[in-house]
This record gives sequence, structure tokens and C-alpha cells, in this order.
Amino acid sequence: MKNKEKQYVIPIFVPHLGCPNDCIFCNQKSISGQTKQVTKKDVEKIIIEYLDNFKDKDAYKEVAFFGGSFTAIDEKTQEELLEAAYQFIEEKKIDSIRISTRPDCINKEILKRLKKYKVKTIELGVQSSNDYILKRAGRGHTFSDVKKASKLIRWSGFTLGHQMMVGLPDSTKIDELNTAKDLIKLKPKMVRIYPVLVIKNTKLQKEYEEGIYEPNTLEQAIECCKELVYMFNEKKIDIIRIGLQNTDVITDSTKEESEVVAGPYHPAFGQLVEDSIWYDSIVNKIKKFNVKVKEVEIRVNPMNVNHVIGHKKENAQKLKDLYEVDIKVKADENIKLGKMELEVLKTFTDFKEEIAETK
Ligand code: SF4
Repeated sequence: MKNKEKQYVIPIFVPHLGCPNDCIFCNQKSISGQTKQVTKKDVEKIIIEYLDNFKDKDAYKEVAFFGGSFTAIDEKTQEELLEAAYQFIEEKKIDSIRISTRPDCINKEILKRLKKYKVKTIELGVQSSNDYILKRAGRGHTFSDVKKASKLIRWSGFTLGHQMMVGLPDSTKIDELNTAKDLIKLKPKMVRIYPVLVIKNTKLQKEYEEGIYEPNTLEQAIECCKELVYMFNEKKIDIIRIGLQNTDVITDSTKEESEVVAGPYHPAFGQLVEDSIWYDSIVNKIKKFNVKVKEVEIRVNPMNVNHVIGHKKENAQKLKDLYEVDIKVKADENIKLGKMELEVLKTFTDFKEEIAETK
């Protein structure tokens, strides 16, 4: 029996060498000179290496071809890479395959090929539902392509995923909330949310340096992503990632090896968004009490303790600075993940009396 609770992903990056598109935020072209295409052998090697290192042999294992344009690369390479992964499915060593691709690179024939190799999940790089913003970002597809592709994917029995961006040129928070609304209508099972970072050797870098493009601040990106999380959560759509994966080159822009020039980069971006959501719920609960609160005890599942306190204790500090509330956090195994119990330990009246007594 597979332990579905525990899932391992075997990530394989498939660059789109010679991509004819010109996305404003992408530096694939400038790095393509140094990047070689992955081969069947590379795929086999990567899968074997990962399998050898997985501790829980009964966990669910998925090979994920990332890179954003899988079905746009030449057919022969697609078949080779899929075949390489598929043999591990036949040997029952992995459970499924996932790919990510462009919305204008999906049709019935392509889906038939993916079915043949037991691809389960297809993620589409949507980025925005506004055609002007897509054009401005040089994406080379429209939202109508996204609608068509999403429907075909779902009707063909695949699991649908969407990826959207926050902070594209000329995109406002309203546009991003509208994108989420439009995506929800297409019923994805999962989404990824990426705040735009200015990467070296991209058109966006040029616009940034010329003062045409102004990236979101970290706070703006967190605020917007938080609203998106509320919207997707309400519709029970899984949010599988918020923020780009931290790598050797996607790292703090002050580091020499960093490819990031500007933008709302943070190594724990997703955690900051989650912490901020916890902060809002704590404030809402505190505001419901009919007394001025001075100290509260918050009981949560041990896995959520850090979210309550916040990254570098930010939530605890903000509650103190803005609301003069001290928090005591207790880990409690009996409390479900994501839930909390909050109890007032001291009101301002108690606090004043205490001070009076000590005088
Ligand atoms: S992000 Fe755009 S330019 Fe870059 S590889 Fe994908 S489609 Fe091509």
C-alpha cells in the first residue's frame, strides 16, 4: 500500500532550448548557450539517484518535468524523456509523472502522447488572465488559449494545475485577484503562485534599469499573495507553491552568484505569506473579545507554532507593537493543523491592577 500522506517529487529541469517566445521575465535564451538538453540517460540517472536516497520506500513518488514548456520541445526528445520515466512506472518504482507547459502547446494529439506514458498532472503557465498583461509580458499566448487547454486537459482525465504570477509589468493587485477568479472558474486541482523577480539578462532587467518597471516590494507581494491564498483556499484548490524555489542562483541579490537583480525575493517567501495569514486570524480573534486584551495564550498543533510566532518572531513583535498584546504559544498535539485555540490570560484592567498592587 502506498503511503499517500508522504509524497516524494523527483524534479527534472527540461530547458526549452531555442524557445521562439520572448517572455519579459525569462533568461532561458541567455543561459541556453551554457545549458544542454537533458537526455534519456540523464533522466534515468536522476531517478535512480533520488530513489536510492528516499527513506520511506512506501511513499508516493512522482517524476516532475519542470521548465514550463515540456510539450513545446521537439517531439522526439519528449518521447525519449517520457519513455525514460515510464519504465520506472512499469517497474512500479515510481507512481506518476507530472509536466509543466505552455497553454498554447496543448492539443488532442499532444494529450494522447502524454496519456500513453501515464502522465497524470499537467501544469499550465498561465501567468495572467488579462490579455494586455500577457502581451506586455511577451508571453505569446492569450487567456483564450488557457481556457481551451484547461478544458481539454480536464476532459481528457488529467489533473490540471495552474501557475500564475504576481507583479508583472502593468499588472495591479486587482488584475491578479481577477486572474485568480478566472482560474477558479477553470477548476484547477492545484496552483502555484510566483511573485515576479527581476532576473539578470532579461528584458525586464532592462526595463527595471531604465525605470520603466518597478517591482513589487516584499510587503506588497505578501499582501497580494495572501489575498490569493484566501481565494483559492475558499474553493479548496491546493496551493502547492508560493514563491520561486531557492537555488544557488535564485538567492539574495547581494550574493555574487545570484541571478536576481531586484524584486520581492525572500528565502522563505511562502512562510512569510502563511505567517501573515496566521497574524490576521490572531488579530481577528483578539478583536472579538469585548475587553482590551493584554496577554493571550495560543494553543496550536506543534507544526504551526512557528507560523504563530512568525519568521524572526515578527508576528509576536507586531502584536506587541501595534496592539500591545503579549502572546504565549503552546504546542498541543490534539489541535488540528491550521486550527488554534486562543485564551485571554490578562486584560488591561488586570494589568493595571497588578501595577497598582506593586506600588
Ligand atoms: S518562459 Fe517564455 S521565453 Fe522562457 S522558455 Fe518559457 S516560453 Fe520561452
